[in-house]
Amino acid sequence: MNQPLYVRVHPRDNVAIVVNDGGLPAGALFACGLELLEAVPQGHKTALADIDAGQPVVRYGEVLGLAATRIARGAWVREELIDLPEAPPLDRMPLATATPAPQPALEGFTFDGYRNTDGSAGTRNLLGITTTVQCVAPTVEFAAERIRRELLPRFPNVDGVVALTHTYGCGVAINAPHAEIPIRTLRNLALNPNFGGEVMAVSLGCEKLQPARLGLPILRDDEPFAVRLQDEEHRCFGDMVAAILRFAEKRLERLNARTRVPCPASDLVVGLQCGGSDAFSGVTANPAAGFAADLLVRAGATVMFSEVTEVRDAVHLLSARAANEEVARALLREMAWYDDYLRRGGADRSANPTPGNKRGGLANIVEKALGSVAKSGSSALSAVVAPGERVTGKGLTFLATPASDFICGTLQLAAGMNLHVFTTGEGTPYGLAMAPVVKVSSRTALAARWPDLIDFDAGRIASGEATLEQAGWDLFRLILAAASGRKTWSEHWGLNNALALFNPAPVT
Ligand code: CA
Repeated sequence: MNQPLYVRVHPRDNVAIVVNDGGLPAGALFACGLELLEAVPQGHKTALADIDAGQPVVRYGEVLGLAATRIARGAWVREELIDLPEAPPLDRMPLATATPAPQPALEGFTFDGYRNTDGSAGTRNLLGITTTVQCVAPTVEFAAERIRRELLPRFPNVDGVVALTHTYGCGVAINAPHAEIPIRTLRNLALNPNFGGEVMAVSLGCEKLQPARLGLPILRDDEPFAVRLQDEEHRCFGDMVAAILRFAEKRLERLNARTRVPCPASDLVVGLQCGGSDAFSGVTANPAAGFAADLLVRAGATVMFSEVTEVRDAVHLLSARAANEEVARALLREMAWYDDYLRRGGADRSANPTPGNKRGGLANIVEKALGSVAKSGSSALSAVVAPGERVTGKGLTFLATPASDFICGTLQLAAGMNLHVFTTGEGTPYGLAMAPVVKVSSRTALAARWPDLIDFDAGRIASGEATLEQAGWDLFRLILAAASGRKTWSEHWGLNNALALFNPAPVT
């Protein structure tokens, strides 16, 4: 058997996670002299010292909770042995008290992208077809398939066609206060940099979400931007499809006239997310993403991280890191909004961890949150953006979204994301049609088992094959390569998860 190994993240920690594949049996002896009292699965925690009932269980240098009963040195620290503490109170948070100094600028890093007239840059050259309502979705999918088959071969510089279909648009309380979130999400999805500023929409006609309500900028006065299926001129299904193809062809001609040009790394808008996390996520994949995030910030790029319920228990660390008090207050405002949203639904943050998270060794939401915020690296938090809004500034940005993979991904796309980095422990074949997704595994075993789905193995950090710094630089370079057109695995297979709108407003 391999030498028993554990990972202790912080000198204050009184627990550490078992590294060895398949876990370790009772009696396993670590180099430091610690002996396991019972079998501990891989990724799960063992106590490094005796912990009395009521005493804090510490990982990442932070309190995960209090010991529900006495935990002996070498015991398996299971979920039920830790009582979940109260969430940090939002009215007693440090505001920009530990703002990190800017790190030296990184010059000279570029990617080959598509320059847009509004100053943004695309990493892909896609035709996006916006829809106002679910009623038109199958028709638009049908038309998109014909566009791919019949038109795209004539436009080799265009990477693909994306039908922006969703379940919103009718049967909803469209004037309710929170309805603004799905509506502005749809508007900003249409304006994603990977669509090159070309906008077209398909509407049914009688739906609540009328095309004008989207508030999309009318770029060309001489050219209508929406096909309305209920218009008199459409005498059959074939007429509707033909109209969509006509609209698409004009835009494909303009998109096809573009080619990749060198763009500074500062044109990247990278969204970070995790899904199917395990106890290694916080020591390998997320810190590697965080290191790459620091490099991107130093290169002038925009880096977003999200997932309110996964930062809620670490928010005191983030509010202290805010660039100024205004940013810190904006962060706390978004947390309070979400606390209230969960309360109205009869839930709280403990609803977040999944059975897979727990199988992977994450005892509770505090442990998950501490690992999750490692994605944000060490830069100052420059901005906080509400769900559905577009990010406008550079630097590290918190985009307040649910942690749900599909909803977070959709909101990051609406925020203007042109490349997604997705870290995973348990594994997911997740992908997006609108932007490349670089998938990062927290363990080498997952990267080895799914070599044709995982783009980057951060597990090398736990096994000692790579330092965090090496892995962070490698991931940064892979991000630039993927932004320049190198296909990710989910693109290779065409794995495109559906858009999922965040609609906190009532359905009628
Ligand atoms: Ca997620």
